[in-house]
Amino acid sequence: MNPDDFRHAIGHFPTGVAVITTTVNGEAHGATVSALSSLSLEPPMLIVCLKDTSRTLTAVKQSGRFLVNLLAEDQADIAAHFATRDGAKLAPTEPGKLPGIPGVLGAIACEVDSMVRGGSHIILMATVTAVEMASAGRPLTYYRGRFGGFLPALTLVKPSD
Ligand SMILES: Cc1cc2nc3c(=O)[nH]c(=O)nc-3n(C[C@H](O)[C@H](O)[C@H](O)COP(=O)(O)OP(=O)(O)OC[C@H]3O[C@@H](n4cnc5c(N)ncnc54)[C@H](O)[C@@H]3O)c2cc1C
Repeated sequence: MNPDDFRHAIGHFPTGVAVITTTVNGEAHGATVSALSSLSLEPPMLIVCLKDTSRTLTAVKQSGRFLVNLLAEDQADIAAHFATRDGAKLAPTEPGKLPGIPGVLGAIACEVDSMVRGGSHIILMATVTAVEMASAGRPLTYYRGRFGGFLPALTLVKPSD
């Protein structure tokens, strides 16, 4: 199986976009991700997949905690910023404070429960410790290498309604 063919195929599955942030000794780290999924409701858990060479992954392993910043429709520039290799993508933070990104749809604080290797990536299984949602807003999406928005296609109505 050619990896490029797989990349092309999986690119046809639209996703949301998030930035994973964490802090180690006041130094803040962040990476754009689309490999993010709910895992369990009781207890609340999610998974994130980060490349094994990622500096943000190294920082998450050290801190044991991270924040999932769910990007809003107008935040494609932030997604692009956190997808670069730039050394300092975030200003330093107070030690112990997870770096939040202003204007996001919501933020989910997590503690790492366990890690499993999956090919070139590490699957982080994490317990959700807190959530904070904006009162309104629309999500940033990613499809076939491009950022976009979300348009409801149909409204599901039960026959009895
Ligand atoms: C829409 C979107 C979704 C994405 N989803 C995911 C995802 O789910 N999981 C994921 O892992 N990535 C994902 N990425 C890619 C990810 O955002 C970038 O790789 C980002 O740079 C990771 O940041 P980092 O700080 O974790 O890693 P970085 O430390 O910035 O490293 C990123 C890569 O660059 C290499 N690198 C770093 N510095 C150098 C250097 N000086 N010379 C040579 N190579 C270097 C690293 O080895 C690593 O492979 C996504 C990107 C986009 C745009």
